This record gives sequence, structure tokens and C-alpha cells, in this order.
Amino acid sequence: MIRYSLRCEKSHIFEAWFANSSGYDRQVTRGEVACPRCGSVRIAKAPMAPWVARSGQPEKSAGGTIETVRQARKKLLKDADNVGDEFAREARKIYYKESSSRGIYGRASDEEAKALREEGVDFYPLPPLPEDHH
Ligand SMILES: [Zn+2]
Repeated sequence: MIRYSLRCEKSHIFEAWFANSSGYDRQVTRGEVACPRCGSVRIAKAPMAPWVARSGQPEKSAGGTIETVRQARKKLLKDADNVGDEFAREARKIYYKESSSRGIYGRASDEEAKALREEGVDFYPLPPLPEDHH
């Protein structure tokens, strides 16, 4: 099973479970997925971006060379849990002390990120890794 964050034509965000990604394609094409708020079947996946939230205070980042970005990312992820698409939910739980305080990283849609910011949750875009040429 796979959970997607979806958005209807009126920008309502909701979540739905599918057997797999082709199950998602099939059901949305057939109009079997409806927005729970307005009933629209014009549905698309909400874009998700990578984020990181860390316990403790952020350190000042030094410079912007490729190596420091790489090191900063490595440091950010070192003691952080990958919570995948549960980022918004987990960040909120930690913020409200319903979950143990720790660093996490994962993905959240723009709307989820905006809602978290409005609640005062502290998190940052995950620095993208420069392309590796192995
Ligand atoms: Zn809707």
C-alpha cells in the first residue's frame, strides 16, 4: 500500500491509500477518487519537497561550496530519522511533545509545510545533494 498526498482542482489537500502507483493512475483516470471536501474527481498528486527538522539549535552554515553543502546535509541527516511522507505529521507530534524530541527528515507538500510554519514548527528545506558522478 502506498499513501499519496493529493490535491483537487480547488486546491483541497487530502490523503488516500492505493495498492501501488499504477493503482493510483487507474483509479484517478476512472474518476474513482473524489475530494472529500468538494467531491471533485479532478485529482493530482500534491507536490512534495524534502525537509529536515532538527532537535536543538541550528548551527551557522559556513560558505556555500559543494563540500560544505554536502557536509551540512550529512550532519543534518546523521542523527535524524527518515520519516518519509509522514514528515508533517511527525514534525507536528514532536513540536507538541507527543513524540520524542529528535531530528527527522522526509517529504511534505507545500500546503503541509505552510501549515507547519503557521503553527510555529521549526524546519528547513533539505539541502539538495549536488549531482554525484560515480
Ligand atoms: Zn476539493
